Amino acid sequence: MTKYSPLTRKMSNEVRISQRKFIAIVIIVVILLIYTLTRSSSCDSKEFTINNNQQQSQSLDNKPIIYAITPTYARPVQKAELTRLSHVFRLVPNLFWVIVEDADETSALVRNLVNRAMLSQRCVLLNAKTPTNFKLSKRDPHWSKPRGVEQRNEALKWIRKKIKHEPGHSIVYFMDDDNSYSTELFEEMSKIERMRVGVWPVGLVGAMKVEKPIVENDKVVGFNSVWRPERPFPIDMAGFAISSDLFEANPSAQFNYEVEKGYQESEILRQVTTREKLQPIASNQILVWHTRTEASKMDNEIKLGKKGLPPSDEGMII
Ligand code: UDP
Ligand code: MN
Repeated sequence: MTKYSPLTRKMSNEVRISQRKFIAIVIIVVILLIYTLTRSSSCDSKEFTINNNQQQSQSLDNKPIIYAITPTYARPVQKAELTRLSHVFRLVPNLFWVIVEDADETSALVRNLVNRAMLSQRCVLLNAKTPTNFKLSKRDPHWSKPRGVEQRNEALKWIRKKIKHEPGHSIVYFMDDDNSYSTELFEEMSKIERMRVGVWPVGLVGAMKVEKPIVENDKVVGFNSVWRPERPFPIDMAGFAISSDLFEANPSAQFNYEVEKGYQESEILRQVTTREKLQPIASNQILVWHTRTEASKMDNEIKLGKKGLPPSDEGMII
């Protein structure tokens, strides 16, 4: 029979304690491992649902895909604008970006930006150049000619083809590159019902703090706009989104150069809906602002050129 000396007992106690410690550590590691794996797999599966959404317009959490149409054109602030937008996209998994460049071809700048933001799987890059007679020149006031007509129509063509093969509910939103968007806007927009147009307030537009639909008993009974309130739909492009089935039901609905100044919104909306059918959304909140980015001064950049010095962005893309 083995007889343990006090020293042997002490040692076996130590061994037992370290065994317990060992088991505790193993349990903690396993818990951490399970936690990490489940977290990353739910992330992956979200990505997967969106990225591989070839057959179905229904996305994660049963939210509809929102096709956000962004006309954009080359200018010094373009990359800054699109960077802001791309970071909104990263936070809203059910957004699909339809970028339409006002150019003869798509650009490396936009392509690289989309790739760097890891959005290439839920983005399409198109181009459609504004005809020269409708293009704003440097001296024209910005409101003197319609903007984004060619590009939005090109996007609508692409979306019509896309949804033909993809049953399910999706939404179309005209998302200009210079506005400011809260991610909450897209949460709210996801509530738009089939065959309906959702409308909501827009901040800093129409020379007012906010232009908004007037809502009573969940119905739009009017609008508060002061500029041309007689328009059929006196709202800004940022203030509505359209259930995509309305574009299938109205296959010729599109934007048009031949309308009065400020009537582009009314033009598209009158072809797909009526005021009575509008669905008010986020009526007491401002989740989008019609901000306009000041054109950056380049006087000193020009001076550099005149002095025969290299441009300040040599070797970079601003
Ligand atoms: N836009 C364009 N080509 C132009 C001018 C504008 O593609 O020559 C785009 C612009 O990037 C924006 C949208 O059309 O996404 C609306 O233009 P802008 O923001 O200048 O219009 P506003 O806010 O003054 O109505
Ligand atoms: Mn704008």
